[in-house]
Amino acid sequence: MAAASSGDPGGSVGRRLPLYLDPTNSFGELTYLQLSGKNGVTLPFNPYIIGKSVEACAGGEIEDAKSEAQGTKDTLMVRNPTQVTKLLKLTRLIDGTEVEVVPHPNLNVCRCIISTFDLIRMEEKDILAEMAKDNVIRVQRITRYTDGKKINTPALILTFCKTTYPETIKVGLRRVPTRPYIPNPMLCYGCFSYGHTRARCPGPQRCVNCSGEFHGDECGEATLCLNCKGDHRPTNRQCPVYKKEVEIIKVKVRDNLSFPEARKRVEQQAGSYAQVAAQQKDKEIARLQEESKQKDEKIERMMAVIEKMNHQTGQEKSRQNREQSVSREKPHSSREKRITTITTGPVTRSRTNSPAVKETKRGRSSKQNTNKPATSPDPSPPPKKTAISTHDLTQMDYSGEESEASETPPNQHLR
Ligand SMILES: [Zn+2]
Ligand SMILES: [Zn+2]
Ligand SMILES: [Zn+2]
Repeated sequence: MAAASSGDPGGSVGRRLPLYLDPTNSFGELTYLQLSGKNGVTLPFNPYIIGKSVEACAGGEIEDAKSEAQGTKDTLMVRNPTQVTKLLKLTRLIDGTEVEVVPHPNLNVCRCIISTFDLIRMEEKDILAEMAKDNVIRVQRITRYTDGKKINTPALILTFCKTTYPETIKVGLRRVPTRPYIPNPMLCYGCFSYGHTRARCPGPQRCVNCSGEFHGDECGEATLCLNCKGDHRPTNRQCPVYKKEVEIIKVKVRDNLSFPEARKRVEQQAGSYAQVAAQQKDKEIARLQEESKQKDEKIERMMAVIEKMNHQTGQEKSRQNREQSVSREKPHSSREKRITTITTGPVTRSRTNSPAVKETKRGRSSKQNTNKPATSPDPSPPPKKTAISTHDLTQMDYSGEESEASETPPNQHLR
């Protein structure tokens, strides 16, 4: 039984305690009563006046109460049948407001489905006559149309005049299990709005294809859903609005709520999902911004290194040019050769290590290679220069500059 067993244990329906533990029947099945002002009189705005009046009449606390119809009526939830009898006689509140209490017109019934071939040939009214002792007040058979012919299915919708229905119902000698009845959303096939049927449609009739004003069965317009503005017919069961209506009905049946309450709950849930999604999106954006900032900083640092290296390369080239012009005039001494190797070797290597200058590396190193034979006759650099950091490079180049600056003229060496 959906309402009693699938609902939460502290929920609003079903027996709270088994009868053998509940001699006064104070924890029995729920009854809904409706309290309203008599002849359109509004209820007092002070909830304590209503509370004290109801509790005084019932002889104690009741289960709960909810306001309905924008607060002009109150739904009283009562489990004790004695309290129900007393409250149905309430006519005046303690402040003198005239009121009336009636069994709630919608909430004291529930529906379920049974499915059995045992009853497939029986008429609805005959089944009802047999099931009346189980508080069944209505039996409806579910039918379907095949080739234009109405066919009985083994499924029956049973309506009980109680807030819960049994887990099984006896059919002859057999116990047939019940399951919750979840009706389809009420979609009007005249105007394609929800909440009423074609028989009660206030109009105007619309086209099933383009949702425009009805213009006969032929439609050359683009398919458009009236309810979600999607490119499907308003009768399409994949429509998000249809799916939402199904969800609202499920929540209504499961939690024994009124339509507006179930709608509100579904919309609140959808809202909280959207909020969580938005928070996650914000976090992701912040993370990406931080990542991009760090990358920008890294690029800036690399650009600074490249600029420095370019500067140093310029200096190196001018020095090499000077050396070339010197070497054309006079042959190298052994010491000069060594200095040239030290200064050119590491620069080329550190370029190879830097990914930012990889693209320019080939052109430059080939240029150097063409220069090298002229300046240094030994093409293989000494093994001690293989690992070198930017710091080392600076020192090396600085020492190179120094050696360049303090370069002793060849004639002094010869001396
Ligand atoms: Zn309609
Ligand atoms: Zn149309
Ligand atoms: Zn749609």
